[in-house]
Amino acid sequence: MPDLRGTGVSPGVGAGPVRMMGGSVPEPPPDERHGGDAAAERARAHEALHAVAADLEARGAKAGGAAQEVLAAQALMAGDPGLGELVDAKIDAGMAAARAVFEGFAGYRAALAGAGDYLAARVADLDDVRDRVVARLGDLPMPGVPASAEPFVLVARDLAPADTALLDPESVLAFVTEEGGPTSHTAILARAIGVPAVVACAGCTTLPEGSVILVDGGTGTVTVDPAPGDIAAADERTAARAAASAASGPGRTADGHEVPLLANIGGPRDIAAAVSVGAEGVGLYRTEFLFLDRAEPPTVVEQEAAYRAALDAFPAGPVVVRVLDAGADKPLAFLPPGDEPNPALGERGLRMLQRYPEVLADQLAALARAGETGSGELRVMAPMVADAADARYFADVCRAAGIASAGVMIEIPAAALRARDIAGEVDFFSLGTNDLAQYAFAADRELGALARLQDPWQPALLDLVATAATAAAGAGKGCGVCGEAAGDPALACVLVGLGASSLSMSPPSLPLVRAALAGHPLDACRRAAEAARAAGTPAAARTAARAHLSLLPSLGL
Ligand code: PEP
Ligand code: MG
Repeated sequence: MPDLRGTGVSPGVGAGPVRMMGGSVPEPPPDERHGGDAAAERARAHEALHAVAADLEARGAKAGGAAQEVLAAQALMAGDPGLGELVDAKIDAGMAAARAVFEGFAGYRAALAGAGDYLAARVADLDDVRDRVVARLGDLPMPGVPASAEPFVLVARDLAPADTALLDPESVLAFVTEEGGPTSHTAILARAIGVPAVVACAGCTTLPEGSVILVDGGTGTVTVDPAPGDIAAADERTAARAAASAASGPGRTADGHEVPLLANIGGPRDIAAAVSVGAEGVGLYRTEFLFLDRAEPPTVVEQEAAYRAALDAFPAGPVVVRVLDAGADKPLAFLPPGDEPNPALGERGLRMLQRYPEVLADQLAALARAGETGSGELRVMAPMVADAADARYFADVCRAAGIASAGVMIEIPAAALRARDIAGEVDFFSLGTNDLAQYAFAADRELGALARLQDPWQPALLDLVATAATAAAGAGKGCGVCGEAAGDPALACVLVGLGASSLSMSPPSLPLVRAALAGHPLDACRRAAEAARAAGTPAAARTAARAHLSLLPSLGL
């Protein structure tokens, strides 16, 4: 089989046997009946329920932490005696075990779905248990991440964020998906757990189960049946990267130009990873991730604690908190959107908060209180700012709430083009290259088919970055980059060359960005940036920039 190409979204190399993600389990036919031996059929059903419960428990014990809680709760569902009785009664009436299990779960499903938002969110977990039992009874592949005694490369059409969060970096060497773009939230999670990943890889689901592949999450190549030499070369690069990652200290170019290296976090539980790689602060606190599964807005007291945790963890550094970016691909139950045919172009981000000003007021009050009592330097920014009027609105509400530093994300092309107007209204910019690419190229960031247009090396995207960074510098304001582009070591050098004053990224990306910057003087970064902007395609931009970043190969990059 020829080698495959996709988009590398989480750097590193992994080689191993392919294990396919289990697909959906079909509903057993309603009229399916057993052969007449009800006792044997009941025994089959109970064996399957117990085996699934035991498997979920074992996987939970291995995963530990939050995953263990979720899996233990699922195991309880499978072992519930009431469910067993329901299934028995249906089998006694002649129904086949798989159908009896399916219908037995249906009663629980209806009860959960009607029992409030928190429990309704558990319906998916219940469905997963049901599908596992039905799959076992029908000898079908298990849904979800496969169990395997040896480490493997996970191949899937797509991975839900929940699947990605449960991936165990010890047993999953890499993953490859047919769908998904470089800035999809699944790709962001892959980087957060540090597993090499390639997305938008056409044809990967036809790879034979068990065949060996080599996945390069940097270049996006998937080599089928790699020669031992390919694996050895990949191992050498991995070793060079590991050595380069060992350096510590603040971000700076080879000639000492300071570029603070900050972390993207989604809540207090991400802080330890950020501290462990020596992040100098937080450049993007995605506060919506704190509240994705909540039916009610969180209280001011709860929010204050979540923000203060980050401020106390980084007493010397900035902590840039983004107010809720709800809507489109991150809906929040307590901020329902209007009836919109195009949610990505609708009331998301700051627009949504303007619709619900009391939610914004509470969040700013919590931030102001955390800023007063926490140790680090609080900065607050708004997502989805389109023009100077949006920026002024946000700066005004921040000042009224007592927040000293108010900024905006530059992630809408209009805002980048007229950044000079916006710079006069706020204290800083943070470039969100993920949405900036999505909106500049009119290409949905979740769609694998459009990954080419989401490539952060697109020269048009680099032009927008340069325009915004130049406007910020002209106004004497900082201009960080917090989109995923900042975590690509070569592109990080280019962004600094374009005028980025800080870089914020998923913690696992930080050590190699630090090494790439330390290897090149500011002048080389500027030349790399110029060369990239002069190119006509993302591939040409990459090649042209790398010609000026001569130390990258020795870092395994
Ligand atoms: C961005 O759009 O680049 C960004 C950093 O925000 P998010 O990925 O959360 O939309
Ligand atoms: Mg964004």
